[in-house]
Amino acid sequence: MKRIYMDNAATTSTDIEVVKTMNPYFSLKYGNPNSIHSFGQEVRETVEEARKKIAYLIGANPSEIVFTAGGTEADNYAIKGIAWANQKKGNHIITSKIEHHAVLHSCQFLEKQGFKITYLPVDKYGLIDPEDVKKAITYKTILVTIMHANNEIGTIEPIKEISEVVKKAGVYFHTDSVQTFGHIPINVNDLGVDMLSMSGHKFYGPNGVGALYLRKGTKIVNLIDGGAQEKNRRAGTENVAGIVGIGKAAELAKERLNQGKEKEIIRLRNKLIKEIMNKIENVRLNGHPAKRLPGNANFCFEFIEGESMLLSLDMEGIAASSGSACTSGSLTASHVLLAIGLPPEIAHGSLRLTLGKDNTEEEVDYMTSILPEIIKKLRALSPFKENWEGLK
Ligand code: PLP
Repeated sequence: MKRIYMDNAATTSTDIEVVKTMNPYFSLKYGNPNSIHSFGQEVRETVEEARKKIAYLIGANPSEIVFTAGGTEADNYAIKGIAWANQKKGNHIITSKIEHHAVLHSCQFLEKQGFKITYLPVDKYGLIDPEDVKKAITYKTILVTIMHANNEIGTIEPIKEISEVVKKAGVYFHTDSVQTFGHIPINVNDLGVDMLSMSGHKFYGPNGVGALYLRKGTKIVNLIDGGAQEKNRRAGTENVAGIVGIGKAAELAKERLNQGKEKEIIRLRNKLIKEIMNKIENVRLNGHPAKRLPGNANFCFEFIEGESMLLSLDMEGIAASSGSACTSGSLTASHVLLAIGLPPEIAHGSLRLTLGKDNTEEEVDYMTSILPEIIKKLRALSPFKENWEGLK
């Protein structure tokens, strides 16, 4: 059976070039980069090369890159690190209602410690209004953390405009760039951010490695204590193979961006959206029509459950994702879809299809040829069948 992967926002396949670059660092070049002998020093050089490649992709200085164990750790470090280091100045943090749980749960954790958090609303496309950020800032605000693009609906936030407001107030600004890093051009100085999180497995690098861009001079405390690695900012012997891999993935991402390869993904994504909207009734596109991630398409199909769509698609060999998550037997609607104003019953019928560099036009055509039939069958079985029949 044909197998099609349309869940690239969840994770991407590690590029074969990345795997080849990583391989020697498991058993041939195994020195500890902190050792002074040549085994260690050779490895140290490769770690520093990887740091340069990450920095180069976003216009940063290599010394401003701190390697972490992924996007979640980078978000935790930025948010808790700034909160704890600056609590004498203030205890107020601003974020949005549609952030990833790595950000939302870090904020909720700080709330329990006495920090005050403002969760900003978004409009029907998932956009944050810079004016709302301006209004929310008080003399106690120490951090604003707003994602670069949303992982579910793909909306790209006006980070540059928000940073202008935040900078004027002299407040630190962090952005979770896990979904954009390596996929769209980023320059930390143009964006005006002090911190930016990224994750290897979202741009064809390995899992379990990420980084935080940390602007020089930012007052932050460490999350992990121990040795003096990462210039005393993140203790623990480096994940050398992972770091080499994320560096190679950044190099390849730069090449793809220079060649404008994301345009082909956008073309296929637009075709996917157009065909689905044309062929299926009672469907809505979630997220902004233009300000969205190259590979992201997110829909709500009325009168059916996301989970049942995922299972039906899986039986056809297609991997996709949905905003609803089955937790302890009950379905919870996505906080992002609720925040853009969808009622829970509509939010439950969501389907996220995320394309990557390896998806083909043939796959898009196959998807759009079988989806209408799947939706029809599920609607015929739906407990909301009568509502659906009434609309026909
Ligand atoms: N932030 C966003 C926007 C994400 O999409 C993800 C992963 O889904 C993360 C953070 C967490 O990254 P990681 O899986 O590397 O911990």
